[in-house]
Amino acid sequence: MSELNPFLIAQRQLDECARILNLDDSVREVLRVPMREMHVSIPVRMDDGKIRVFKGFRVQYNDARGPTKGGIRFHPDETVDTVRALAAWMTWKAAVVDIPLGGGKGGVICNPKKMSDGELERLSRAYIQSISQIVGPEKDVPAPDVYTNPQIMAWMMDEFSKIYQKNQFGMITGKPLELGGSAGRGDATARGGCYTIREAAEEIGMDLKGATVAIQGYGNAGYYAATLVTSLYGCKVVAVSDSRGGIVNEAGLDGEAVFEHKAKTGSVVNFPGSTPIYNEDLLELDVDVLIPAALENVITDANAGNIKAKIICELANGPTTPEADEILYNNDVHVIPDFLANAGGVTVSYFEMVQNFYMYYWDEELVHERLDKKMTSAYHATLHTSRKYKINMRQAAYVVAVERVVEAMRLRGRL
Ligand code: GLU
Repeated sequence: MSELNPFLIAQRQLDECARILNLDDSVREVLRVPMREMHVSIPVRMDDGKIRVFKGFRVQYNDARGPTKGGIRFHPDETVDTVRALAAWMTWKAAVVDIPLGGGKGGVICNPKKMSDGELERLSRAYIQSISQIVGPEKDVPAPDVYTNPQIMAWMMDEFSKIYQKNQFGMITGKPLELGGSAGRGDATARGGCYTIREAAEEIGMDLKGATVAIQGYGNAGYYAATLVTSLYGCKVVAVSDSRGGIVNEAGLDGEAVFEHKAKTGSVVNFPGSTPIYNEDLLELDVDVLIPAALENVITDANAGNIKAKIICELANGPTTPEADEILYNNDVHVIPDFLANAGGVTVSYFEMVQNFYMYYWDEELVHERLDKKMTSAYHATLHTSRKYKINMRQAAYVVAVERVVEAMRLRGRL
């Protein structure tokens, strides 16, 4: 049975990398734990007049290469260990794409689907206020993640600016365009993932035109992935899902139309012309490319052996357990690991920070071009390392990232 605590999984992955690189035990000890974490209780006045106290976290994992960076998740099942794992993965993510940032993550235990806009705004403002001492453009820069969005970033930026009595656009990324957001940030996670799919397909000799794709999760990453694999490469998206269930259409689904259906009804299920499928079955469909784009631990030792896709592009963070990784590797499935596959989001977030500092904004083409360059070179650095050490792509991404972080720590005299 797999261990499903994401932080223990993240530590196990790091231990494996330390073994491959023959890292000193003391170096491994430092890299296994976050450098700082803040736990806050957030009182929020609800619409019924009563105060509810929410629990929130901000974890700063490692800042050797630059300010810590990473999203904020609003989720009913959030745990501090999940946030710790996500903060660790942010550290490796920023390092593998070689942007000058460290890793962090935030989370609040709440169910935004059951909150009004007013309650969500008050929670967002109160959360950022409660962690305001440790965040800032040169310290730690949050962003959107599961169930948070540009509007929430705008409220947080406004609240933080009030505390500092001046506009602080660079304190958070994924903002609306009108408030210092970057062109191309909306679809950046999915677009970056698509560039890695393009490189992987070329590597294994797969023609992407007409290739079939299944996508688990239809939030920001899943939705944009559905539209982009079609518009960029002519793939056929045959199945998608969300937390309520999945849909299949062998003839291909129109990603935009599915999005509109979800916006209207709250879910992709019952999309006209599709047949229903369980989330678990979607993962095992006979497709060319599988894109997990929801939450952790969906590919485990229980189902990895049944996966038929030739490429898995992990837009979600932590979708695959270490046991499953081994099974997939032995079955020749080409896995583009999470912190490489989904690094497009933080890469364009970094571009957003740069534009905020300069107060000079780039057009979308320039963002796409620079994102492509970053993703393509990170993909090839990882592929090259996986061949050199004869290790899987996840271990290779770890090797590339950890070596960079360790080097920065050594140069700073921290190791
Ligand atoms: N939440 C996204 C991630 O997991 C983006 C983080 C960011 O832009 O800072 O990569």
